[in-house]
Amino acid sequence: MKIGVVGGGQLGRMLGLAGLPLGFQFRFLEPSADCPAARLGEVIRAPYHDMDGLERFAQDLSFATYEFENVPAETAQWLSERLTLAPTARALSIAQDRIAEKTTFRDLGIPVQNFAGISSAGEIEAAVLKVPLPAVLKTRRLGYDGKGQRVLRVGSTDAASTVRTAWNELGKVPCILESFVAFSAEVSMIAVRARNPGHGASIAFYPLTQNEHRDGILWKSQAPAPCDQSGELAESARAHVRTLMESLDYVGVIAVEFFVTDAGLVANEMAPRVHNSGHWTTDGAVTSQFENHLRAVGTMPLGSTECHGASVMINLVGRSPIASRILEIPRAKLHLYGKGPRPGRKLGHVTLTGPTAHSLAAPTAELERLVAWDL
Ligand code: AMP
Repeated sequence: MKIGVVGGGQLGRMLGLAGLPLGFQFRFLEPSADCPAARLGEVIRAPYHDMDGLERFAQDLSFATYEFENVPAETAQWLSERLTLAPTARALSIAQDRIAEKTTFRDLGIPVQNFAGISSAGEIEAAVLKVPLPAVLKTRRLGYDGKGQRVLRVGSTDAASTVRTAWNELGKVPCILESFVAFSAEVSMIAVRARNPGHGASIAFYPLTQNEHRDGILWKSQAPAPCDQSGELAESARAHVRTLMESLDYVGVIAVEFFVTDAGLVANEMAPRVHNSGHWTTDGAVTSQFENHLRAVGTMPLGSTECHGASVMINLVGRSPIASRILEIPRAKLHLYGKGPRPGRKLGHVTLTGPTAHSLAAPTAELERLVAWDL
């Protein structure tokens, strides 16, 4: 079966690596030459909205997916009219707009922080009445890895002026003002849903993953989440993600990120795709998020999400450490994306998997000493 993937970055590459042993073939739509996925299938080199490129990409394909959420809405719509696009264009459009995303969560009873939209300077006064500082101002669209956002604290100037200055700095584009959440940890739930003809839908969840960010970029993921000894947070996350997937009739892998607060989970955002906080599943689970995503997209049965104990994943950003030093660490599995070094760029990751979280403490400390980011 040939699967079309919009985007040829590292997520496309890891989808390819997971799918080839199952007999999947790949065609990527990707504007840049020499992308990380290039060696794993055919690449249609064209901009994402280029009609000729789209025609060539969609030719003879039955199934397509995407590996980043900023796929133009028109491209997703065009593809959906010709083949099975999973996750759907609707799920994609919700994830592309932080207001639609938070509204969807709230309407489904999934807890979210207070938020208000700001599309013009005239809306700032009303927004700060609804969402007092401290708050975070984010662009509604095209934000990633903490880009396009400002944390706004209570200061000497009035709240509306603080927000106005930040809104001007972000380019006066449509934004969302969200209450600052005093969280004790950040976690994500990676789940997958498949619709199998004649068998209804099936859902599988990975263990709750705990995530640490540096400068808005994911630094470390640990699964199962150490902050959830009782398993209550995972249970609550599973219930929320199940509600979300069922309401969207979702197909594929989804990642939902939550803040952990004294009052329980607060949903921050969703990614309708395989996710960096699920990269550990390649080494730490019976079936990786990449394989399960492909199985779901290709209407095949899902694989077991059972884990081989505990896992830790650390991202390599900006510069790659010396591979041989990493490989000296017991249990370390190195994944490089074939990208050249550049400050702030995700170049690879390392996973450690062991029978217990305790067994990973020493190799994790060693790994953390070796990995230095260039931001
Ligand atoms: P996001 O782009 O929404 O994933 O935000 C990137 C990171 O900024 C999150 O992982 C948090 O660490 C932090 N952050 C985002 N929104 C908030 C918020 N409302 N309150 C506190 N921290 C936040």
